[in-house]
Amino acid sequence: MYSIKTIGVLTSGGDAPGMNAALRAVTRAAISQGIAVKAIYRGYKGLITDEIVDFQTQNVSNIIQHGGTIIKTARCEEFKTPEGRATAYERIKDHNIDALVVLGGDGTFTGAKVFAQEYNFPVVGVPCTIDNDLYGTDSTIGYDTALNTVIECVDKIRDTASSHERLFFVEVMGRDAGFLALNAAIASGAEAAVIPEVSIKDDMLAEVIQNGFRKTKNSSIVLVAESKETGGANGVAQRVKAEYPQYDVRVVILGHIQRGGSPTAVDRILASRMGAAAIDALLEEQRNLMIGVVNDKIVYVPFTKAIKDDKPIDLKLLQVLRQLSI
Ligand code: ADP
Repeated sequence: MYSIKTIGVLTSGGDAPGMNAALRAVTRAAISQGIAVKAIYRGYKGLITDEIVDFQTQNVSNIIQHGGTIIKTARCEEFKTPEGRATAYERIKDHNIDALVVLGGDGTFTGAKVFAQEYNFPVVGVPCTIDNDLYGTDSTIGYDTALNTVIECVDKIRDTASSHERLFFVEVMGRDAGFLALNAAIASGAEAAVIPEVSIKDDMLAEVIQNGFRKTKNSSIVLVAESKETGGANGVAQRVKAEYPQYDVRVVILGHIQRGGSPTAVDRILASRMGAAAIDALLEEQRNLMIGVVNDKIVYVPFTKAIKDDKPIDLKLLQVLRQLSI
């Protein structure tokens, strides 16, 4: 049995639209249940360097609609060392923090798991990443917004692609997971997607492109997930260009645009539900788990599963993409 009077909340790792909405939800759900909130600036880094501030309900006013995170995020190598985590634990004791709520992705939860085990300390995670690559939740906060950003960009690229009869390779984020590339390809009417889950041979890709150009189309768009293996959009474009030098090939790397912007309604609602659920979980004496949503219901996923297990992608979606891009 342990009682929680004060929680610390931080945002860590890669930022995602909806982190502010989640921070607001965690803060207000806690305060509404009589729990004090301390915001820890700059993730684990701020925990070590003591950037810890009392938060009231008004500290999270007027942020639900903003991308990014008002308490900043950072990467922190020191937290990967036992000495760094020992300092973090000292700070936690100094501030009388009884539990942590961490908003982030894979790396953030790996750190949380190690820390929670080392100090037998309650930690709950709220999944925020545009990659949607965490096992145990249908979606992560930020994914829907990023998807909408990508399709908005691809719609614009389509205008110029068709005017000039060009072949565009558009690179999106998702080093280990093709959710963004594949679903954005479907939603934007792209011709193909190159994703890490499937090793698409160049000739298959080229075949799709050939078909597209030979039949009714005068332009093609292929979404490519960033990848060391394929070389991302540049790598794929080079190989296709070598085989089909006649095509006017262009590459667009969307980059950090995908991380920004006002969160969609879907992400705001997800962030609000998950943030509130993190406080419920702590009050139910749950710990060392990530909040997930499966079939529209809140679930608790142990950190070990969320981090280690690969989230499967439905490969039927590739089939749909192929069928609809003829
Ligand atoms: P994300 O949460 O978006 O996946 P990162 O992979 O950058 O982002 O991780 C965020 C932070 O989590 C790291 O900077 C580090 O402080 C902490 N972290 C990641 N892996 C570990 C680990 N193995 N042990 C301790 N802390 C870790």
